[in-house]
Amino acid sequence: MGRNVRLELVVATKNKKKLGEIKDLLKGLKVKVTSLADYAHPPRIIENGETFKENARIKALKISAYTGKLTLGEDSGLEVAALNNAPGVRSSRFSGKNKSDKQNNLKLLRLLEGFPLKERKARYRCSVALADKKGLVFEAEGGCSGLIGFKEKGYSGFGYDPLFIIPKYKKTFAQLGLKVKHKMSHRYRALKKLRKVISAYLKNNL
Ligand code: IMP
Repeated sequence: MGRNVRLELVVATKNKKKLGEIKDLLKGLKVKVTSLADYAHPPRIIENGETFKENARIKALKISAYTGKLTLGEDSGLEVAALNNAPGVRSSRFSGKNKSDKQNNLKLLRLLEGFPLKERKARYRCSVALADKKGLVFEAEGGCSGLIGFKEKGYSGFGYDPLFIIPKYKKTFAQLGLKVKHKMSHRYRALKKLRKVISAYLKNNL
């Protein structure tokens, strides 16, 4: 390929907010980032893994086989210690099929009613898998610890961010904004490892 041709990296997601964060976190890499929204009829992904890692792998392999392109599968969610690590892999559909971030947050607040702050420990987790048409290239994980607040605060980010307090700042990710989130989030930590692998991959495949 010529010098200015960028390799395409397909992110196997339809979640716009998540895609936006991933694009921010991959800035500077010489890849053209696309997503399932750029494909007219992408295959349906059945997220039936029991772990974030399995689901990230399912997404990466399914879409790389379909597109023939380098693909990033990402699966993430929230684990709350007092709830036996729920919602976990069910984070996006915690409040049911017709879920919304708002309903998920309200359900979480309901389940934690009566728990003092020190018993509201939580952890965001993110697994990423990189695959190309030949199969899996690399996998990585990242985590971020916090506490679940008593009410939603702030407007930045998505999902559980209005409830997820970073103890060091005593503020939620939604209050802190993406600049701070991108320096410590589970997604940042997982993608930091992946950036190096993508750079090496580009050197070998361009
Ligand atoms: P997935 O798209 O199947 O990986 O589901 C991810 C779900 O986990 C989201 O819909 C959110 O509920 C939650 N989640 C993952 N990462 C974040 C984050 O950075 N902030 C808030 N919620 C998150």
